[in-house]
Amino acid sequence: MSLTSADFIAIEQKLGARNYKPLDVVLTRGEGVYVWDVEGNRYLDCLSAYSAVNQGHCHPRIFNAMVEQARKLTLTSRAFRNDQLALFYEELAELTGAHKVLPMNSGAEAVETAIKAVRKWGYEVKGVPEGKAEIIVAANNFHGRTLGIVGFSTDPEARGGFGPFAPGFRTVPFGDAAALATAITPNTVAFLVEPIQGEAGVLIPPPGYFREVRRLCTAHGVTLILDEIQTGLGRTGKFLAEEHEGIEADVTLIGKALSGGFYPVSAVLSNSEVLGVLKPGQHGSTFGGNPLACAIARMAVRVLHEEGMIENATVMGARFKSGLQSMRSNLVKDVRGRGLMLAVELIPEAGGARPVCEALQAQGILAKDTHGDTIRFAPPLVITADQVDWALERIENVLTSGTAVH
Ligand SMILES: *Cc1c(COP(=O)(O)O)cnc(C)c1O
Repeated sequence: MSLTSADFIAIEQKLGARNYKPLDVVLTRGEGVYVWDVEGNRYLDCLSAYSAVNQGHCHPRIFNAMVEQARKLTLTSRAFRNDQLALFYEELAELTGAHKVLPMNSGAEAVETAIKAVRKWGYEVKGVPEGKAEIIVAANNFHGRTLGIVGFSTDPEARGGFGPFAPGFRTVPFGDAAALATAITPNTVAFLVEPIQGEAGVLIPPPGYFREVRRLCTAHGVTLILDEIQTGLGRTGKFLAEEHEGIEADVTLIGKALSGGFYPVSAVLSNSEVLGVLKPGQHGSTFGGNPLACAIARMAVRVLHEEGMIENATVMGARFKSGLQSMRSNLVKDVRGRGLMLAVELIPEAGGARPVCEALQAQGILAKDTHGDTIRFAPPLVITADQVDWALERIENVLTSGTAVH
């Protein structure tokens, strides 16, 4: 006897912590841009697990790399060395110009790692008085869900009820370089920011913002930490989104698609002395840098390049975006994004993005609402022109039929 979607949902409702409100679709299989539910319905995935499956679901070459490595060796801990870690370092360093790499598992751990390292760098290298290090962050940031990170979130939902929080963070508006200049003090060790704010609704800062940010950070000895956990790995049409801005961060955080969705793998990439301050015993992770993770990540990065996915994100992103922009719907307030990181913001009278996502689900498209009125469209980077056009037709149906308006 096989369980239906309703059965699975009932069990989840009864036993699971309710920290998510997923669409009521129970998926069982994925391939490329498609996923299937337990009833056999097919959907075009327009979320890609928040950009963790940029390479498409169950990519065969990443799968093979995973299975091959799993047969040989999965976990050694960092108490011993393994023959995958060095190659993981070498390939990432060559690709990004990083001088030092530190592997972790989740994105939030990479963020926490960078915070630890940059504070220590502040005391030992910059000469900030002990306990006084300040990190500047952007309003409406999303850097993960750990206690350290939600303490500097500006989203009441993310932080409410979870205090007390760690001190040492200051917030400035995103996209406002003048505000950053004002907030920097002699004790500022870092500015931590996303190149494009994904969770906040795919917000792109004004042109020239990051050049000015880079200039200010250099001038004041402030480490620029770019959180590319969502924007990296080809999502915006470049391997790293910083390439669009013509700048280089001092520390770059990657995760999500670093494993193509097979396994949690994240990394801190450091172009400066920041990671150099960590000495044995001062940071670690049982699973970070394990041979299985490294083998998966090496192949996940390789297929992005070898299979033209990054260029495809540019071409298909432009097609998808112009299709969204030319829709004749009076519900749409704004269409924005870069590469295949796109969003449609609805007018407030549209009745919210969630009902639209439910209507899209009925049409065979899975997308996610964010911040009430915005729907994100971020399909795997292997999407074809026919698939983009297919999606656009259905999105237009939903946005012009009025079904979403209650
Ligand atoms: C998803 C995300 C994180 C957190 O990654 P987890 O793997 O969920 O811990 C951090 N920063 C950004 C920009 C993200 O999109």
